[in-house]
Amino acid sequence: MAGASVKVAVRVRPFNSREVGRSAKCVIQMQGNTTCISNPKQQNKDGAKNFTFDYSYWSHTTADDPSFASQKQVYKDIGEEMLLHAFEGYNVCIFAYGQTGAGKSYTMMGKQEPGQEGIIPQLCEDLFQRTGENTDPDLNYSVEVSYMEIYCERVRDLLNPKSQGTLRVREHPILGPYVEDLSKLAVTGFIDIRDLMDAGNKARTVAATNMNETSSRSHAVFTIVFTQKRRDQLTGLDTEKVSKISLVDLAGSERADSSGAKGTRLKEGANINKSLTTLGKVISALAEMSNKKRKSDFIPYRDSVLTWLLKENLGGNSRTAMIAALSPADINYEETLSTLRYADRAK
Ligand code: ADP
Repeated sequence: MAGASVKVAVRVRPFNSREVGRSAKCVIQMQGNTTCISNPKQQNKDGAKNFTFDYSYWSHTTADDPSFASQKQVYKDIGEEMLLHAFEGYNVCIFAYGQTGAGKSYTMMGKQEPGQEGIIPQLCEDLFQRTGENTDPDLNYSVEVSYMEIYCERVRDLLNPKSQGTLRVREHPILGPYVEDLSKLAVTGFIDIRDLMDAGNKARTVAATNMNETSSRSHAVFTIVFTQKRRDQLTGLDTEKVSKISLVDLAGSERADSSGAKGTRLKEGANINKSLTTLGKVISALAEMSNKKRKSDFIPYRDSVLTWLLKENLGGNSRTAMIAALSPADINYEETLSTLRYADRAK
């Protein structure tokens, strides 16, 4: 079972039309919080492997299935818990891992249709719902957001259309690593955030098309800086609690070598994998520390831009959740198994 600081969930999506077209077979089964994957080439019991996570989410069949997990359910279990930690003053981080097409952005962003919104819009809406209910005149909230993309270890601002180039990653002596000149915009309601995200997602697609990439090879990091300011009636002094909520849609985890990548593509693959591999190492080191299996407290945050920038959201005073997205199909068996192993190391 995951330690206090890392919550791990896996979520299988329904077959897509390509899988249906190829008469793919389902290799995933779930029971309670256990996920079983069977090797399509090894039909006996030795070909099946079980993994236990905090949550195993099934959405392969219909909503009548008792283990079917709706977008709302996933938000309730993971998003809401993380939001409540942010209200307590923790930094939090939720990230989605998995092969391209496995359901990462469905889980994080979802669709703008009733009941289809992912964790990010639900969390933003919930945040403003809760702050809007505040009747304490001594308590004030403020919310700022930033949205960036990390591609080949370089950072781009998704909220500033004029910022074409890449931004520098620097380190503040007290506040830690940050991105120089990254836009941070104050927002007062959910609609503001939704509009900014829509603009950011368009900028992401345009940038990717111009550079002849696909956005599945970059990491998208949406950050909410949530500040709670309380005035002490007696002293008149303000105390501030600042929480950073990072919501990350990771690049596709498929290996560069499986797609016959050469030259730039191969280098790109290695760089993307550098962030994913380092993230895996950081998360498992943190999990080992919280499970008391690890003596050394060295965590290799600096080994990739992603982990360096998420440093304050992963270790120490923070709470982390990871959702690994899975394809149910036999044709993706190898990638799905490697996703399950990655998720397993985070426990
Ligand atoms: P990724 O971000 O990992 O590349 P997507 O989130 O874009 O993958 O998912 C690929 C397709 O599968 C999308 O059309 C998405 O709507 C659908 N999908 C993914 N997960 C689910 C799910 N749990 N339930 C229903 N549809 C899903």
